[in-house]
Amino acid sequence: MTDTMTPEQRSRCMAAVKGKDTRPEILVRRFLWKRGLRYRVNNRRLPGSPDIVLKKYKTVIFVDGCFWHGHEGCRLYKLPQSNTDFWRQKIHLNIARDYRVNVELRLMGWKVIRVWECEITPKSTRETVLERIYNKIIGLPPRNYDIPDSDINIAAEDTVDYR
Ligand SMILES: [Zn+2]
Repeated sequence: MTDTMTPEQRSRCMAAVKGKDTRPEILVRRFLWKRGLRYRVNNRRLPGSPDIVLKKYKTVIFVDGCFWHGHEGCRLYKLPQSNTDFWRQKIHLNIARDYRVNVELRLMGWKVIRVWECEITPKSTRETVLERIYNKIIGLPPRNYDIPDSDINIAAEDTVDYR
């Protein structure tokens, strides 16, 4: 193996070797699969090409990288020191597109769940967030959780319902 991989490629490679992919999207998929939910991935026919599509529940899930999707106040969202304006503009366009995609999908009758990578990656909050995603998919009301609603992205989605 030559030493020409980027850190990201290397981590994917190592994950593949160990048979354990820890990318946020994979963690969500694996959890849903274990819970018996079946889905399709990267559906390009729907607005925004949702990461996970659960047709039976008319639900789509996006697992958003905190940098690319501009997670305000998140330690993973730090604009680079050089070309800062370029990056700011680029990410603001991404945020605007995400918003538009949410509206389009909801108007089509889909339930939209967005999860930040920083919610899924740490083991401390992962289980709670995954449970909440599951409940949101199958339509159970949220139970009492350790994490306040304000800390969880998907809670904000609950306030708007286009169905
Ligand atoms: Zn974040």
